[in-house]
Amino acid sequence: MDNRGFYSILTIYEIDRFVLYLQMLNGKLIIFSAPSGSGKTTLVRHILKTFPNQIEFSISATSRPKRGVEENGKDYYYLTPEEFKQRVANQEFLEWEEVYAGTHYGTLRVEVERIWAKGKAVIFDIDVEGGLNLKNQFKRDALAVFVMPPSIKILEERLHSRSTDSTESIARRIAKAEKELKTADLFDVFILNENLEEACSKAEEVVKDFLVI
Ligand code: 5GP
Repeated sequence: MDNRGFYSILTIYEIDRFVLYLQMLNGKLIIFSAPSGSGKTTLVRHILKTFPNQIEFSISATSRPKRGVEENGKDYYYLTPEEFKQRVANQEFLEWEEVYAGTHYGTLRVEVERIWAKGKAVIFDIDVEGGLNLKNQFKRDALAVFVMPPSIKILEERLHSRSTDSTESIARRIAKAEKELKTADLFDVFILNENLEEACSKAEEVVKDFLVI
């Protein structure tokens, strides 16, 4: 066999391995859930930056209006309350929830399929109830990560310093957080977000282990 033959066999073998590897990521879900203000969005962004070719963000649908610099199709798919209801009726959601009174959020089935079709795993930044809902549906194909704030007091301070919420909204988020903290042991792993650098490397480690990358 000349060298050309050898290299083409090697290439076919490598392509095969690559396809197999993509198939392994296809169908996988990584769920980051936490009380509001725990820093889960920062951790999700870190994971996306670290594994850009393997993982893509699931853009949720919401009935809330766009905020600040947010963009449709990037931060959320913004639907009117009527459109949201219609899609619920059509069973287009894998999960959906009224996260805050009058405001609905949900994961569209087509969004997840869009990402899997690229051979990538899907990462979610969703609230605790939605996260557990997906975990119960997808079981071993899903990694459910609970991001734990150091304390309720620190969570409250973080929400105040973010200055995006009114005093009432902060009180609502804290009341919700107290309930959510009780569900932490239903998740596969929890990450204490006290020191951001440490939390980021722990997040990397658990994702790597789950996806075997
Ligand atoms: P915000 O309005 O601040 O962007 O998000 C409010 C909350 O809704 C956050 O806790 C966020 O994680 C959650 N959320 C965003 N998308 C979804 C979703 O698709 N499903 C569920 N259950 N919660 C979501």
